[in-house]
Amino acid sequence: MHCEHNIPETKKGLGPCVIRWEVKKRNGMPNWWCRTHGLEASAPDGAALDRCSASWFEAVSEDMQIDIDLDDGEFAVWGVVPPAFCIGEVPTEDGKVHIHYRTEANSKKEIDRSFDIVRVRRGEATEVVEGMAAQAHALTVLANENPSPLVCPRCGEGHIDELLFATRPHVKHLCNACGRNFRDRSPSISNPLGGAQARLGLPQPQPAQQVSRPLNITSSEYRGVAIWPSNSAIISTMSRPEDKGLHVHAWSHEGELAIDETYSPVVLDGETLDEDLIRVLTVQRILATSDNVPIIALACTSCGHSIVSPTQGWLKPTTRHACNACGAENRTRRRWFLNPLADKLQ
Ligand SMILES: [Zn+2]
Ligand SMILES: [Zn+2]
Ligand SMILES: [Zn+2]
Ligand SMILES: [Zn+2]
Ligand SMILES: [Zn+2]
Repeated sequence: MHCEHNIPETKKGLGPCVIRWEVKKRNGMPNWWCRTHGLEASAPDGAALDRCSASWFEAVSEDMQIDIDLDDGEFAVWGVVPPAFCIGEVPTEDGKVHIHYRTEANSKKEIDRSFDIVRVRRGEATEVVEGMAAQAHALTVLANENPSPLVCPRCGEGHIDELLFATRPHVKHLCNACGRNFRDRSPSISNPLGGAQARLGLPQPQPAQQVSRPLNITSSEYRGVAIWPSNSAIISTMSRPEDKGLHVHAWSHEGELAIDETYSPVVLDGETLDEDLIRVLTVQRILATSDNVPIIALACTSCGHSIVSPTQGWLKPTTRHACNACGAENRTRRRWFLNPLADKLQ
């Protein structure tokens, strides 16, 4: 899990590594850890590295950081997740934290873009929303779980559960910052941004409202189409409830963003998209990319039903797949995630 070299955006460009060990690994070698960047720092032979792999990251540029005062208007802040799927040419956007900002409820969005570090202030209260925690938070919410802000009792850093650990509550946590384990009293998923809304003194946002805004779209009429599940914001001061449905971007053949709205139901190339399968597909895509496994559409050999991998428990790719319709066990030679919408993936 730690070969990801993923570190909080706020730790990029922090200066020289401080490499120490506090505990030994199972093989008896010191567990060298960079305390500056919060990353493992053992060489393959067990000696300490001179620099950890995160020391090569440049600091986040000014352009990818923003300071916002929540009293200045209406804001919503999300962790960026990849689209469930893209068809055709979809431009990639930098940034891991997406924000919407309007000076008043009914004005046009004045900021609608992504950053890597968003510093939020409301009166005396402040929160730093950096990309690694924001993206992990989004994954946890997509997995229908609720993160809480645990602090490592050994080093005092806020604990970020990533990837698989961001989808399933667990008791034993491996601290990103110091490399040691700690236990929580009951199973939990930790994210420093859990409870940020309340710490800023904001009321819980109104529950998201299912939109009734149908879209019937033919992908060949566009240069590119991207579709996301809706996901609740980490911090929001929006006066109206968030839209629940599918968020669709479509670019014209000239490259203009022609569609940018949340719809429900969405018919794509003649097929109505199942919103829960889109949510599951997004979670699977995030986990599959880090694990380098495919997501496949597979019909049950007994009844022909297109199988969905389990969406509860550890969301791991497997070789045995119980059919959701008839219960028959289907086997695959390699570990796969199954999703009926996978044939739309590119
Ligand atoms: Zn380092
Ligand atoms: Zn954890
Ligand atoms: Zn720690
Ligand atoms: Zn949009
Ligand atoms: Zn079946």
